[in-house]
Amino acid sequence: KKNDETSRNLIGLDQQHFIHPTSSMQQQQQHGPAHIFVRGKGVYLYDHDGKAYLDGMSSLWNVNVGHGRRELGEVAKKQMDTLAFSSCFATFSNKPAIELAAKLARVSPPSLRATFFTSGGSEANDTAFKLARHYWKVKDQPKKRKIIARMKSYHGVAMGATSATGLKPFRDFAPSLAPDFLHVDHMSIEALRALIDREGPETIAAFVCEPIQGAGGVHVAPDSYLCDIRSICDEYELLFIADEVITGFGRTGAYFGCDHANISPDMMCIAKGITSGYAPLGGVMLSKSLHEQLTAHSHGTLLHGYTYSGHPTSCAVALKNIQIIEEENLIDHAATMGEKLLLGFRTIQEQYSEIHDARGRGLMAALAFSHNGKNEPLAPKVVQAADQRGLILRAVTFDQQDVLVCAPPLIINEEELNQLLSILESSVQ
Ligand code: PLP
Repeated sequence: KKNDETSRNLIGLDQQHFIHPTSSMQQQQQHGPAHIFVRGKGVYLYDHDGKAYLDGMSSLWNVNVGHGRRELGEVAKKQMDTLAFSSCFATFSNKPAIELAAKLARVSPPSLRATFFTSGGSEANDTAFKLARHYWKVKDQPKKRKIIARMKSYHGVAMGATSATGLKPFRDFAPSLAPDFLHVDHMSIEALRALIDREGPETIAAFVCEPIQGAGGVHVAPDSYLCDIRSICDEYELLFIADEVITGFGRTGAYFGCDHANISPDMMCIAKGITSGYAPLGGVMLSKSLHEQLTAHSHGTLLHGYTYSGHPTSCAVALKNIQIIEEENLIDHAATMGEKLLLGFRTIQEQYSEIHDARGRGLMAALAFSHNGKNEPLAPKVVQAADQRGLILRAVTFDQQDVLVCAPPLIINEEELNQLLSILESSVQ
């Protein structure tokens, strides 16, 4: 009874005062939030009534080490008790930020050396685009300003990140975004080459891509695609920015998505799994050569920085989170469980003619329904049915797609994975 009353109060307050990110404002006014979670443990989230939900999305593809890890809370408390925050502007620094930057240089693709910290993935992408343009400016090639991104990509919601995002509804939401962003077919090397030739490489600063497109519907390009991108960027002198905001820190069964293709980007955007969501943090890593050249050519102040760049508490949490990922062997575990997840998805696909594709890598997977543009998409219905059965998934319906995506925490065990697959099966049915 008491729980009911508290829930009703919270729902009312939510409707009046809380503007939810990436949500329908009208639906919220009519129905209020569907779930108010109060606790998390492992792969599960628990609502007010104590009902458990298997978090098949790691919340926003980010809770890699699972919910309720006390050791992360303890590290955060210790850091807050000692030095919760200090600035990293100009000549100031702090120990967790230094140690994290050094750790990232050791675990990332070989060319990468130095990190600029942000509060999340959108800021990481904006930073990468600005640094790319700044780089060509100080190299006396100020015309190299354009950024090429892929269709179906998602790079976040800051002005530059939205401009790069290939999912058109995000760009149309607030017209007149940043200039000089171009979009190219998400899998075609030929289309990219043609676009560069048409625009002129002397006008292009960088190419940005997610090694596996996540929010756009889990599109896995072959490893050869990333190798080709690397060679094209070298050939035309474009900077290659890898957006590893989702694919970093073990998600795909390798430390980073680029590791599958054995390539090193010039810049790499990171966020999400770096702290598993226990504190907000993102960053852009720069290759040794880019870092050296920027340092050599960039006179005056680097006029780009966020209040929370190098936040000591977030960095301390990230260090501990990375230690957990390594000590618990979660990257190999994600690869093994990912194979089982994909097998399970393929088995479901075989039973239903309405499903035309099952795809994924590591603990990112998708089922694509056959959507002819006329019928109502099926993925949202399946997601709703799964929700009623205690499983959280997500539907992607942008760009005429009808796709269900799934990305459970890397700690998921076999029994939990079977539970996920069995709920999914009955929801599809
Ligand atoms: N880049 C990618 C590939 C993402 O998936 C996301 C978020 O989902 C972002 C960037 C934006 O990150 P954030 O929401 O932390 O700003």
